Amino acid sequence: CGIFGVVGVADAANFVALGLHALQHRGQEAGGIVTYDPEAGFQSARRFGYVRDNFTSQKVMETLPGSLGIGHVRYSTSGSKGQTAIRDVQPFFGEFAMGGAAIAHNGNITNANALRRELIGRGSIFQSSSDSECIIHLMARSLQQTIPERMEDALRRVEGAFSIVAMTRTKLIGVRDPLGVRPLVLGKLGDGYALSSETCALDIIGADFVREIEPGEMVVITEKGIQSHFPFRRQPSKFCIFEHVYFSRPDSILGGRSVYETREAIGRELAKEAPVDADMVCPVPDSGTPAAIGYSLESGIPYAMGIIRNQYMGRTFIEPTESIRNMGVRLKLNVNRALVRGKRIILVDDSVVRGTTSRKIKEMILDAGAAEVHFRIASPPTAWPCFYGVDTPDRDKLLAATMSEDEMREHLGVDSLKFISLNGLYRAVGEAEGRNKSCPQYCDACFSGEYPVVPSDKVESGFVM
Ligand code: 5GP
Ligand code: SF4
Ligand code: MG
Repeated sequence: CGIFGVVGVADAANFVALGLHALQHRGQEAGGIVTYDPEAGFQSARRFGYVRDNFTSQKVMETLPGSLGIGHVRYSTSGSKGQTAIRDVQPFFGEFAMGGAAIAHNGNITNANALRRELIGRGSIFQSSSDSECIIHLMARSLQQTIPERMEDALRRVEGAFSIVAMTRTKLIGVRDPLGVRPLVLGKLGDGYALSSETCALDIIGADFVREIEPGEMVVITEKGIQSHFPFRRQPSKFCIFEHVYFSRPDSILGGRSVYETREAIGRELAKEAPVDADMVCPVPDSGTPAAIGYSLESGIPYAMGIIRNQYMGRTFIEPTESIRNMGVRLKLNVNRALVRGKRIILVDDSVVRGTTSRKIKEMILDAGAAEVHFRIASPPTAWPCFYGVDTPDRDKLLAATMSEDEMREHLGVDSLKFISLNGLYRAVGEAEGRNKSCPQYCDACFSGEYPVVPSDKVESGFVM
């Protein structure tokens, strides 16, 4: 998901809508905005579909007055899978003795089922099936005096990954979980401030990037300034390495590094680790593009757009049902026949998850007369599901969980298949010494199976780590 908020600027909702539009790649199912204005009070609009189709009309934007606002773009990783209900669309709102608060959450709470059971047992009435709603109910039960303190109280009981943008009548609040799994950045916008999942959304509104919110940090921002503190026990950070590979936009800055440059470096590493004699390097667009450029630069094999992407389609994996995803490949990608005929092609993609995309693309490329197809993948084999906010299927649907690399090559029907090594990936994200085995610098659980937070709900329902 993507989260965004601003304080201290007139017509906050317009800025929030623009920010969410720049974060649309993080969630395409639905979006919502909440604002506060002293006369109008809290107002909200939550809709299915793209930001540009919902939050551009004057009719909607007029209903969201005020100089303080937050928003969320959703893709479901928990809750009602496949059929998001409007009641699951964030931001969520709660009315407390000291006033209202709205929150938008990116990540996944790994003990949400246990918390929900406990809260329902004690009388909480849940409105949604979302894991994020637990936070509101935990806040409601807290005995603290202020909303930020109640939020701290609540979040100390929550396990898993959370980046949060929240608001009260006067405050914009940002929090990252102690491991800092999901991103969150701070920007300055005129006299006001902005919080955003990624820096690309600061660019769109002309805000200056100030810094990242640190793992375990809570910032409380008013028109007067920023207060920062660290309410959780300090731990080594575990930022999601897959944000670098795929999830974030290539024009964002993560951990002081350009995502684009990291992806290009991944491609260079791949070319060193897995060279092959061929005529051209083609990306599977868009997610494989920077890595393909890196592979081409390192290997000296020309880069070409052998597959053309229809820009009017979204990200395939974000479409929640299998049948839509299957169709998605053809709706989205087409082979540039004239280019690939008779050629030995190196195809670069960011990841192989179920293998559906890769299989279809290989068929399309061979149909178009390619002589050879060599797959090069910009991440290690995805052998474990993510429980921290990136949607992955159950283990039995992950190709790499059920097959060896050789079996995968056979299954995909390609001439060769190579994944970047985990150490190569760490080098590409700037860790010259590679992965620190005793304390990995990132979360890489979907590749290594080493989960930095025990996914206790999943373990309870039978998941074997
Ligand atoms: P698959 O191998 O499952 O058919 O799809 C892989 C493609 O989906 C890749 O090109 C990648 O861009 C995209 N993708 C990236 N991350 C994920 C993810 O976490 N889950 C799924 N299902 N697809 C992803
Ligand atoms: Fe990121 Fe993978 Fe960790 Fe999920 S399991 S947070 S996708 S690195
Ligand atoms: Mg892709």
